[in-house]
Amino acid sequence: MRLRHIPGSEEQIAESPYVIQQPWEYRGCWEKAFGSSGPVVIEVGMGKGKFIMELAAAHPDINYVGIEMYSSVLLKAIQKRKDTKLSNLWFLRADARTLTDIFAPGEVHKIYLNFSDPWPKDRHAKRRLTSPEFMAVYDRILKDDGSVEFKTDNRELFEYSLESIPAAGWNVEMHTFDLHHSPYAHGNVMTEYESKFSAEGKPICKLIAKRQAAT
Ligand code: SAM
Repeated sequence: MRLRHIPGSEEQIAESPYVIQQPWEYRGCWEKAFGSSGPVVIEVGMGKGKFIMELAAAHPDINYVGIEMYSSVLLKAIQKRKDTKLSNLWFLRADARTLTDIFAPGEVHKIYLNFSDPWPKDRHAKRRLTSPEFMAVYDRILKDDGSVEFKTDNRELFEYSLESIPAAGWNVEMHTFDLHHSPYAHGNVMTEYESKFSAEGKPICKLIAKRQAAT
């Protein structure tokens, strides 16, 4: 998602009480940011933040971090966040490439990737958030039994991910090509893109991956 640049968005983000401006200062001590030592769960590319705000409201004992790279998009999330009272959710403006500067090894319990940009051209494959390059980043911040949960409507990206994730040394523990009509539908929280695409009749794909156990 890339919205037209909104003049003043950087300034509004810099002043927002919902955004951590210098997240690297919490590397290794995110409990200080939250004032509690609950598990840290992140969404990379949260867009306007519907999904992570719903999760944070439903699970007050879990500490959530929503990460979005574009100011104009993050600003929309901040505007929605104003209507909520959540003490277990921070937003960051950051590129997923910098996650290891923000979280220490083993600090993150779960990573959500929802409707990530597909980057269909082969020469852009490294930019896909399920590429081996990004899986190596997640490997460095996830705790040993931590997981990556990925949803998309894009069949090509999903099929690519079913190959790229095991190739990077991970097990795909579950996958479905039609989440909403599968046994995994129970408890599913829809993202903005998911609501839009499923209303258009598109099936939603989902997988959960964990690292392969060392032999
Ligand atoms: N997750 C939301 C949803 O499902 O409704 C938004 C999906 S949107 C297609 C993908 C989002 O990921 C965009 O807002 C984009 O700016 C963000 N994004 C893409 N690459 C990113 C990266 N490397 N780091 C952080 N955010 C990224």
